[in-house]
Amino acid sequence: MKAPWWPAWYCRRNRCLCRWNLVERTVVVMLEPILELNIPFREPMVLYKNEFRGSGDGPIISLVAGMHGDEISATYLLTRLAAFLERVVRGMEPHFNLRGTVRLIPIVNVPGINFASRNWPFDGTDINRMFPGYNLGETTQRIADGVFQGTRDSHYAFDVHGSNEQFYEIPHVRVFSQNEKDMELAPYLRCRYVLKRELTPLYKTQLSYHWKESGISTSILMLGVARQIDDVIVNHMYEGLIDYMLATEILEGPPPAPPLEIPTFGRKNTHLVLSQAAGIFRPFVQAGAMLRKGEPMGQILNILTGQLEEEVRAPASGLLASLRMYPLVYEKELLARVFTTMDNPLSTSDVWYQEQ
Ligand SMILES: [Zn+2]
Repeated sequence: MKAPWWPAWYCRRNRCLCRWNLVERTVVVMLEPILELNIPFREPMVLYKNEFRGSGDGPIISLVAGMHGDEISATYLLTRLAAFLERVVRGMEPHFNLRGTVRLIPIVNVPGINFASRNWPFDGTDINRMFPGYNLGETTQRIADGVFQGTRDSHYAFDVHGSNEQFYEIPHVRVFSQNEKDMELAPYLRCRYVLKRELTPLYKTQLSYHWKESGISTSILMLGVARQIDDVIVNHMYEGLIDYMLATEILEGPPPAPPLEIPTFGRKNTHLVLSQAAGIFRPFVQAGAMLRKGEPMGQILNILTGQLEEEVRAPASGLLASLRMYPLVYEKELLARVFTTMDNPLSTSDVWYQEQ
C-alpha cells in the first residue's frame, strides 16, 4: 500500500503537524497551515507557521520572513530560532522557560524561495505591496490576507528582510517613532542602529503598516544582502531576539545583556550619495565604516577608456549604513547612504529610503 505523505504524528482532524504530545503537556508546538492555495499542477501550496505556545500567559510575538524569496538570511534567522525554541520546550535549554507564544512564518513567498525569486514568480508582484490583503482576491492578495489574519493578535511583531542584491545594508531595526516602548526595546536586538520610520500613507500596502495600525508593537529587521547568508549578522540578531524575548517576558531565563548604546536616525539624518556620472563604480570603503566629510569613498570609471569619470566623496561625517554592491551605474543612481547626528536640511522628500 502506498505510504501517506504525512508523518505519523500528522493531526488529521486539525490538518496540522501538531507535536504537542512530544513535549511537556504545558507547552504546545504546532506546525500549522495558515493558508492553502490550489496551484496549476499537483498538490496545493501551503503556507506554514511554526508556533510555540508557552506554559504561562506571556505575550505573543510573531516573526515573518521570506516575503521576498531571495532574502535567505532573514529566513535562516527564523530557522535558528525554531531550533532554539524546540530545545527550550523539550527541556534541553534548562535555563530558559517559554511563558508566551512565539509564532514563526519563515517563508511567505513559497515559490519565490524555491526559484530564488524576490517577487511572486508568476506575475512579478511584490507581496509586501498587497497588504492587508483580501481573502476573495487574487493569489497574492489571499496570501497577504492569510499572513495578516494569522498574526494580527500579536503583541509584538517583526517583519524580517534583507536588502536586495544591489545593496548591502548593515543590520538595523526600523521602528515607528510614535512608540517610546519600541525605542526602549530596539537596542536589545544588537543592531548597528535604529531607524525611526514614519507611519505615512506611502507604506499603506505593507504588512508593518497594518500591524502598527492594529496596535501591535511593530519592527522591521534588516540584515545583509539578498541570496547570501551572513553568519555574523544572523548570530548577532539571533542572540538579540532571545534578549528581546527575555526583556518582554515572552521567555524566562538569565537576564538579557544590557541593551547596546546605538544611534537612532531618521529622515533628517540621511545623506544620499548619488552618482554624477555613468560607468563602473568601485568603492574604497566598506558598509559600516565611519566616514569623514570629503573622504574618498570610491570611483566611477569610464568602461571603454578606464578614465576617471567621478571621484565619489563622503557628503558628511557619519555612518556608512548602506553601499551599492552592483557595480554598473547610470547617472543619479544611489551609491550609498550616510547617517549623521546632525540634521541634513536637504533631506525633505518623503521618498527618502528605498523600501524593501
Ligand atoms: Zn524584503
